[in-house]
Amino acid sequence: MIRIGAQVSVAGGMQQTLEEAEQMGLDCLQIFSRSPVGGQSRGLPQSKQMAQWLAGAQIRPLFVHAPYFVNPAATDEVMHAKACQVLGDEMRRVRHLAGDFLVVHPGHQQTGASSIEALDAFADTVISLLTARGRVLIENTAGQGKEVGSSFEDLARVFNAVGKTSRVGLMLDTAHAMAWGYPLTTANDWKLLCSLIDENIGLARVRGVHLNDSLFPIGSRRDQHAALLTGYFGSKALQDIVATADEYNWPLILETPGKNAAARAADLAILRNIIAGL
Ligand SMILES: [Zn+2]
Repeated sequence: MIRIGAQVSVAGGMQQTLEEAEQMGLDCLQIFSRSPVGGQSRGLPQSKQMAQWLAGAQIRPLFVHAPYFVNPAATDEVMHAKACQVLGDEMRRVRHLAGDFLVVHPGHQQTGASSIEALDAFADTVISLLTARGRVLIENTAGQGKEVGSSFEDLARVFNAVGKTSRVGLMLDTAHAMAWGYPLTTANDWKLLCSLIDENIGLARVRGVHLNDSLFPIGSRRDQHAALLTGYFGSKALQDIVATADEYNWPLILETPGKNAAARAADLAILRNIIAGL
């Protein structure tokens, strides 16, 4: 069975988040455990309680998205240590929330650092996270500004440095892929991207898909998600992504605009319609 999920706000507390997810009929979920841009982190429910809520709502896996205010690709020693500390703490928060994965963006090149140096610094950060328990998913980026980790060749460098471990996988973001320059218009576009991922990282290492349309054109390097089929997605590519997700058991997570169930209803309807036709 294909699992559908979405990013849901935790502003009203975790219990409310899970109730909302259940009302939307989600099978899996992504949350921020704290404000993504910083500030004091709030208390979390007990992991036993959280596991009960998740079981009650029949939601798995639970993805926790890492905050953005640290730079995991920082080459500066102090900033690198800070990223390792904050994200290491986040690994523990994922466990505390009975979560399954921490989703991390590679970060950005600091002034004076090459993209290779930034990617290697990010790989070091990921390796440092493995001293805590839990699993990490590396997300491909749109390449906005000085962001690294957009091409699958670059991500391969990180995966190679980390080595073969089932504790590190890939979260494929379709909006970021398009913004970077991989078209997802035709069925063939998706076939090509699949082989590229397979050659560089391995399709078996994909653990989920952030299924988002891109508001800005292919190759724009602008990271702005759009509702499904309102941006640059082709319906044929979208259909085939869902079919591949079904084949490989990849959960599909919507990070499309809209903070409530009503705003997400159209995206969920499109997805369910495609799944019904598989
Ligand atoms: Zn994403």
